[in-house]
Amino acid sequence: MTTTLVTGIGELTTMDPEHPDAEDALGTLHDAALVMGADDQVLWVGRSGVPDADRRVDVDGRAVIPAFVDSHTHLVFAGDRSAEFAARMSGVAYDGGGITSTVQATRDAPDDELRDLLRGRLEEMRAQGTGVVEVKSGYGLDLASETRLLRLAREVTDEVTFLGGHVVPPEYRSRRGDYVDLVTGPMLTEARAYARWIDVFCEPHSPYAFTADEGRTILLAGRDAGLGLRVHGNQLGPGPGVRLAVELGAASVDHCTYLTGQDVDALAAGTTVATLLPGVEFSTRHPYPDARALLDAGVTVALATDCNPGTSYTSSMPFVIALAVRELRLTPQEALWAATRGAAASLARNDIGRIAVGARGGVTVVDAPSHRHLAYRAGVPLARRLSTVT
Ligand SMILES: [Zn+2]
Repeated sequence: MTTTLVTGIGELTTMDPEHPDAEDALGTLHDAALVMGADDQVLWVGRSGVPDADRRVDVDGRAVIPAFVDSHTHLVFAGDRSAEFAARMSGVAYDGGGITSTVQATRDAPDDELRDLLRGRLEEMRAQGTGVVEVKSGYGLDLASETRLLRLAREVTDEVTFLGGHVVPPEYRSRRGDYVDLVTGPMLTEARAYARWIDVFCEPHSPYAFTADEGRTILLAGRDAGLGLRVHGNQLGPGPGVRLAVELGAASVDHCTYLTGQDVDALAAGTTVATLLPGVEFSTRHPYPDARALLDAGVTVALATDCNPGTSYTSSMPFVIALAVRELRLTPQEALWAATRGAAASLARNDIGRIAVGARGGVTVVDAPSHRHLAYRAGVPLARRLSTVT
């Protein structure tokens, strides 16, 4: 096994406050070093008694953080929706209907094309400091196409989510119940071989998405099949998504753009992580979610890109962190925690999003003296996965 010693770390944010040299709640160490083994596993972290390793990398006083965990993406798709984005910027409203054009382009694309597009987007993410990525299906919406997207996603990550319940495809609009039967029947049976999670777009404000009852049916079938639960909820207006997620003990409810006090109370009383996707509000000009209300109530908050062709075609977690600090009023510390430990929690993972012995998921070098520069120098490509800078 090849081991790598990383020295010269000016500010090491471990997200492990239990480390004996930790200076704060983020587990910050100054003038630190770490050793990594195969598969990005962390073997040693500290300030003194530095062990030897097969190779050495000196990062010359830069900041080092856990690689970002991007816990909500829709990376397997073909087609281009930049014209829809331009139209929306000119005042056309978004109602979820544009997904259908991506479905057609994705169904028509051969495996090799989809695989190349998926891998290209993942490479973009790695180059901006991201480690583990969750990938959803949801642009196939028929049995063969959804299965194909899940199979391609599983080639690149263990965190695969079955999102047959993304929208009702056009051919089922007059018989929605039949589509729910397809999702909870044959599609789910095939999905089990590839997916760890099931997700549903529960959104009464979109005629293409699912009601609370349809969402509950889909999620319960997924749970019976052994999958963990995630929900797209409260994106386009107040709605039942958050409370449904909490009621069923979902690992995460994502978007949370329109929350009532009851929704916040329910999240605070439950175990469901609130995943915020401010790239969507940026790209759709919707109001940003009230992240402070969630944090002040003690809710676990995660940040992710929601990388998708319709409402947030960014692959950049540093951009999301900058939005979280500027628009959601998170502190830089809160934003980094949400983009690493918070996102790991939303995937029910304790072995990623932190730098501690045994952890995996990679580390990221920030070309600056502190992680604070991620938000402070928005748009500047400072963050890189360690393996890409050596
Ligand atoms: Zn999404």
